[in-house]
Amino acid sequence: MNVSEKVRLLPHRTLRSLFIALSKRGSLARLAVRSPLTRPVVARFVAGEELDEALAAIETLRRAGLRSTVDVLGESITSADLAGTAGDRYVATLYALSARGLDANVSVKLTQMGLAIDRDVCRSNVLRILDAARDVSGFVRFDMEDHTQTDATLAIWEEAHAAYPGTGVVIQAALRRSAADVDRIVAAGGRVRLCKGAYDEPGTVAYVSKRAVDANYVRLMERLLMSGEYHALATHDPRIIARAIAFAGREGVGPERFEFQMLYGVRRDLQQMLTERGFTVRIYVPYGREWYPYFMRRLAERPANVGFMVRAILKEERRRVRGH
Ligand SMILES: Cc1cc2nc3c(=O)[nH]c(=O)nc-3n(C[C@H](O)[C@H](O)[C@H](O)COP(=O)(O)OP(=O)(O)OC[C@H]3O[C@@H](n4cnc5c(N)ncnc54)[C@H](O)[C@@H]3O)c2cc1C
Repeated sequence: MNVSEKVRLLPHRTLRSLFIALSKRGSLARLAVRSPLTRPVVARFVAGEELDEALAAIETLRRAGLRSTVDVLGESITSADLAGTAGDRYVATLYALSARGLDANVSVKLTQMGLAIDRDVCRSNVLRILDAARDVSGFVRFDMEDHTQTDATLAIWEEAHAAYPGTGVVIQAALRRSAADVDRIVAAGGRVRLCKGAYDEPGTVAYVSKRAVDANYVRLMERLLMSGEYHALATHDPRIIARAIAFAGREGVGPERFEFQMLYGVRRDLQQMLTERGFTVRIYVPYGREWYPYFMRRLAERPANVGFMVRAILKEERRRVRGH
């Protein structure tokens, strides 16, 4: 049995932790996934490195009846200058989307705006994005990062929502605290994107088993669907999607009162099928040069891709060793 086959046989949870750890470090992996060999796998999940590529991808989605939200890739920024540049990119993206008549809808990671270095830096970048969104009648949602950022993200969201009503935020079903957070957001009239959670969280703050995360997702989803606000259900899980549709049908919550969201390149069959059935489906479209951590989280979610990636990494390493 070769190494990539052995890796494929590791439990999903082990692989998930490994790839999430590599998303934060992993200089060898970083080098390897930049290899031309792996480019087609990356291109499946990332719309391109430049804005024009993302705009072309969004046009294609729109022709297929799919809505979109754009993620200008980048996170955990370490200087105020870089955070400012990231803010500029978002502003430019909103104006470019609007100029082409596309959804001026963006998803923003607050650590990319400087949250971990200085809250005021983060605030001022976020305000610029919210102003641009208001200018083009667009929409901004704050992505949710690992649990160490939850309090700060929700605090900034509360300020933003007070000044720019309708600003959205993300809740992760994996976190034990999320039921209380959902109650708080619903009470404030906020709009939630519910996802399972892409980070490797400790059992002290998160549900560890997939079954428990899924059960919490369903509980929170039902709470949101009954809240009267327009929320987004972000998942590719066909069983949960079927439960959402059945629950909404039973409770008289029409398809115009919520939307499904999925990631670019993931379960395109399901995206199309739901659109054809009359549901709104919004695709999360990431673009930019800083795609490595995002891409590694996508690998962590899908063990089937890992064998391929390991083969590519080993090949790259053999080539590197031979070259020295
Ligand atoms: C629009 C959107 C925005 C998100 N925003 C955030 C956020 O702000 N913060 C956060 O922590 N997480 C975010 N996520 C990620 C999310 O938390 C999950 O990690 C991810 O969606 C996988 O969970 P799932 O609900 O699809 O269910 P799973 O049980 O993981 O997967 C269900 C099925 O979906 C398919 N699938 C799932 N992931 C992949 C993949 N990468 N490649 C191929 N097939 C796959 C497989 O068929 C799998 O069996 C977002 C997800 C979406 C769709």
